[in-house]
Amino acid sequence: MHDLVIRNALLLDGLGSPPRRGDLAVDSGKVAQVGAVSGKAKESVDAGGLALMPGIIDNHTHYDAQITWDPWASPSPSLGVTTAVIGNCGFTIAPCREKDRELVMKNLTQVEGMSLAALRAGIRWEFESLPEYLDMLERRGAALNLACFAGHSSIRTYVMGAAASERAATSAEVDRMKAILLEALRAGAIGLSTTTSPAHNGEGGRPMPSRLADEAELRALVGCLREAERGVFMLTKGGQTPMPFLEGLAADSGRPVVVAALLHSSTNPNAVFEDLEKIREANGRGHRLLGAVSCCPLAMEFTLHSPYVLEGLDSWKPALPLKGEAFKAKLRDKAFRNAIRSELSQPAHFRLFNGEWDKVRVIESQRTIAELAAGRDPLDTMLDLALAENLDTVFSALLLNSDEAAVGRMLRHPCSLVSLSDAGAHLTFFNDAGFGLHLLGHWTRELGVLSLAEAAWRLSGHPASVFGIAGRGALKPGYHADLLLFDPAKVGRGPVKRTFDLPAGEPRLTAQAVGVHGVWVNGTCIVGQRSSQALPGKLLRQFSA
Ligand SMILES: [Zn+2]
Repeated sequence: MHDLVIRNALLLDGLGSPPRRGDLAVDSGKVAQVGAVSGKAKESVDAGGLALMPGIIDNHTHYDAQITWDPWASPSPSLGVTTAVIGNCGFTIAPCREKDRELVMKNLTQVEGMSLAALRAGIRWEFESLPEYLDMLERRGAALNLACFAGHSSIRTYVMGAAASERAATSAEVDRMKAILLEALRAGAIGLSTTTSPAHNGEGGRPMPSRLADEAELRALVGCLREAERGVFMLTKGGQTPMPFLEGLAADSGRPVVVAALLHSSTNPNAVFEDLEKIREANGRGHRLLGAVSCCPLAMEFTLHSPYVLEGLDSWKPALPLKGEAFKAKLRDKAFRNAIRSELSQPAHFRLFNGEWDKVRVIESQRTIAELAAGRDPLDTMLDLALAENLDTVFSALLLNSDEAAVGRMLRHPCSLVSLSDAGAHLTFFNDAGFGLHLLGHWTRELGVLSLAEAAWRLSGHPASVFGIAGRGALKPGYHADLLLFDPAKVGRGPVKRTFDLPAGEPRLTAQAVGVHGVWVNGTCIVGQRSSQALPGKLLRQFSA
């Protein structure tokens, strides 16, 4: 007698094989049989022809803080995600000394748009080291499976304190970082994550710590992956980090390198394809690099109280540390505005906002800045409008990745990795936790850019193989029963809604699923008719080489 049988499904095996009709049996949390299943089951689900695929593996999330107060990692599991990789870009919350907690929370507030009040009220600080953090996650349980990066910025802060955001490390400090990283890898970290992106600024506008690392430090840390013979190196790349250097890291370490964030810019439309081409050539030389791409247009809601959209600009730097009246005075400053205009008029390899004023909307009026400007300068129009409304004006900007022909090419590229949901971060700016449903609905059903079998592979089998997540990401006997049952004719993501359910009643945007009929993690239903509040997720610590 099987624990569970799902009958009459369209089976997508997660490996890209053509879909086929059949049943799937689960015993003790694992797939027991795929195809025609006979015999009885304690629980039987008639799929009625709906599609069944391995649960989505979201390889770019920032649930590190939220997971300590919300073991359901809302809303990801309801959007089909059964495994989340946390700690991307180097922004973990472990290791962290008690005296640095406030600094780490303020950095997260700035860089990942997490409410400081929510972090202060919410984070359970039952750890200091990363191994202790992993133990805590394991003890407390989670609805979905979790894997955690060792975060470069956190390790740097642990070793250097506030100086981590100010200077290069000494060789003694690098040695201490290496020891901490090796300890984390041995305890079960999935790899090393970092950022060199100018968009990543912490408290007071200071660069996030990893941005101060020189090439020798990066080389030494990535070398730990070779020593440990495990782990992925993920990096959110700034313009000054050349692809040949990253290829060198892949060559020296023998480990996969995931290069984020390859988002398409209409103002510099070839840049991401040049990067992807270099990645393809590197693979031809036997070095495993992947370009992390997104299937969602990057759109953000923001106010000038926290203008993440502009904070990566060099010309915005003078405003970064300022608050209150001093900040407003800076926004009024002519020379400041001229500097921004001049920077935006120059091409950039990667820049979040590129002066596309016809894509910035004032939420309450629905008109774009280009329309409202009506002949005036658009930057002046936006800043003056915000200043007149005490900076409370809500803008929405369509920043990157909105050219569907270009994004379609990126999604099909042999060296791209569907990624970048940023779930758990930028909480009031956007919510792309439903990226997988968007891939299955928009890119597969509506646009036909991917077949259903390819999309299922991109969301499960592919990330499982890149990250060495063994025994997941395929519908195969012996594999863990992480499953998503959905209606291919309807699947998609619903509208984003503002809720006030964070600790301290703080707001965030949340996303809803369309066409999801069931989600199982390790054989336990967490979304669907017989869903429970159980926490069947496992902390993943073993990764195949
Ligand atoms: Zn990130």
